[in-house]
Amino acid sequence: MSWFKRVEKGIVTPTEQKKETPDGLWYKCPECKTVATMAEHKRLLSTCAKCNHHDRIDAADYFDFLFDNQAYTELDADMHSADPLHFVDTKEYPKRVAATEKATGLKDAVRSAHGQLNGLGLVVAAMDFKFIGGSMGSVVGEKIARAIDYARQNRLPFLMISRSGGARMMEAGYSLMQMAKTSAKLALLSEAGIPYISLLTDPTTGGVTASFAMLGDFNIAEPGALIGFAGPRVIKETIGKDLPKGFQSAEFVQEHGFLDFIVDRKELKQKLTNLLTMLQKTEVPVKKDTKASTTA
Ligand SMILES: [Zn+2]
Repeated sequence: MSWFKRVEKGIVTPTEQKKETPDGLWYKCPECKTVATMAEHKRLLSTCAKCNHHDRIDAADYFDFLFDNQAYTELDADMHSADPLHFVDTKEYPKRVAATEKATGLKDAVRSAHGQLNGLGLVVAAMDFKFIGGSMGSVVGEKIARAIDYARQNRLPFLMISRSGGARMMEAGYSLMQMAKTSAKLALLSEAGIPYISLLTDPTTGGVTASFAMLGDFNIAEPGALIGFAGPRVIKETIGKDLPKGFQSAEFVQEHGFLDFIVDRKELKQKLTNLLTMLQKTEVPVKKDTKASTTA
């Protein structure tokens, strides 16, 4: 008789008696395949203890470890996408948005908040890749623009954490307009003499790289992040040549002069604190109205 032959028929275990391994107890690194407990992985801010692979995390995760005591006030939390083009691909755009909202619990691909970072006031906008590939639609652009306004009005530094596939196809031209809008708002922030730090995480591509992500007073990145405009396949087909090793990695981009430094996520809070403290000390007085000085 075979060992594995079921001799009695009809043996069933009721669902409530089935014992299952709880989900998410272990984490396996996609790079080096090292296994760690989920608790350890979380403690290391979702980076691998062995190879330092930086796992993709959500906006809320960044807020939790950057803001003191996980205390922050979210801005424009309820802003929600419209359907200006009545766009339909495999499904209607409003249906896609509704389904994504339900699956992710998010309203769109960016969240913005203000709070304290080691006692320093800061406005942060961070992108969520799981919301339609972190694509930049009107809501993303508008929320970033308003977060920049908030930073300018309250004279607080602004940190942008980008993670995006680029423009949102379903909003076409409206999506592209966000590049100009966010860039213009950043120009006003710069004019007011308020620091802007841009953190590029894996991946930062397309219209996001071509606008706000590369406009920081400091452009910094997480290790190993893919940073580029068009993807490697498109470039390879266009130029008809093989691309160099490590092309479009944060390290490659830094070597070619587009990034100021690469920062380990575990050191991000401290590095930002040092940088903002330094910038605060060297703050240039805001330009006074020229008319006032000439009449004086
Ligand atoms: Zn690893």
